[in-house]
Amino acid sequence: MDLQELVDAVCADVGGHLGRGRVADYIPALARVDPRHFGLAIASVDGQHAAGGDADMPFSIQSISKVFALTLALDRIGDPLWQRVGREPSGSPFNSIVQLEREQGIPRNPLINAGALVVTDCLLAGGTPDAAIADILAFMRARAHDAAVCVDAEVAASEAETGFRNASLANFIRAFGNIAHPVADVLATYFSQCALSMDCRQLAQAALYLANDGIDPRDGEIVIDAEGARRINAIMMTCGHYDASGDFAFRVGLPGKSGVGGGILAIAPGKAAIAAWAPGLNDQGNSLVGALALERLSRRTGWSVF
Ligand code: GLN
Repeated sequence: MDLQELVDAVCADVGGHLGRGRVADYIPALARVDPRHFGLAIASVDGQHAAGGDADMPFSIQSISKVFALTLALDRIGDPLWQRVGREPSGSPFNSIVQLEREQGIPRNPLINAGALVVTDCLLAGGTPDAAIADILAFMRARAHDAAVCVDAEVAASEAETGFRNASLANFIRAFGNIAHPVADVLATYFSQCALSMDCRQLAQAALYLANDGIDPRDGEIVIDAEGARRINAIMMTCGHYDASGDFAFRVGLPGKSGVGGGILAIAPGKAAIAAWAPGLNDQGNSLVGALALERLSRRTGWSVF
């Protein structure tokens, strides 16, 4: 299959839908993004690349960063992570607090905000937010094979100013003893991680290890063991789109992770990593046109895992 033809065809498929959905505005710095952008990039395990639309325009990856933070935490601490965070879909919005009280401060999974805050707490490992962010940034640059990946300080500051819900979640979890570091440190690290600025090409390249049993095919580096990669894909499939994870599995059939910046990362195991970006979101906070593009791509390729 010619990947560039595929990307061009999918770009044409969604051309009439550009601008649909609502741009996230609870983080003021994200509200300014033009909803008509659309980018798509594919990186295949056998070294092919294809990109279309605004695939070279950096955007805020937001919750897509949770996949990479989970990779780092699993690689560092392994199975004990599962004593602190579950692996069940929540059926609740990304920033929900309701299950936490009933479940004693153990978040349902690492891809909702509550779970991601626990993962970030693990990554702090007794150090400073600056050190943890430097680690995450170094990891992303290495995986993207691109030193241009950066943290957008304005987006991080904007979220810090308005992140009352995440502050509530972190304090609540800490009250149950499931966050070890000062809440301010966890939040500072989490907001910077979410403010990573990447384009579709970089994102697809960075996630390729998840399509290749944990090994980056570009340099042969073992990013995580094969079992870890399989498990991350399983969690992306069941939890990566919050209370719309079932719908994404139904329509696309690939492990995926969305972010409120409008990005979606999808993995076709054994084949490719795909990044789509369109800033307009649906009611569950997932990219409306991004999901549509991935649905078309999955139909055209037969890459659904089902
Ligand atoms: N930084 C955002 C938040 O915590 C990430 C949410 C998302 O992308 N769904 O609210």
